[in-house]
Amino acid sequence: MADVTQSLLAAGFVETVFHCPSCGLGGTSLSRPTQLLDRTCADCNEPVVSTVLDRFSRG
Ligand SMILES: [Zn+2]
Repeated sequence: MADVTQSLLAAGFVETVFHCPSCGLGGTSLSRPTQLLDRTCADCNEPVVSTVLDRFSRG
């Protein structure tokens, strides 16, 4: 994992998987939890579905 990712996670960011129901665009990104509710697709600007990954939560 890159150091910058570690830093972002330590700063309260979470890794999320997003998927756009409208055009099918999907991927992963690091986001602040407070920003997840109003995420929109970079392609078509429709609301996207975001799921927080918890693979970093160990123990
Ligand atoms: Zn889209």
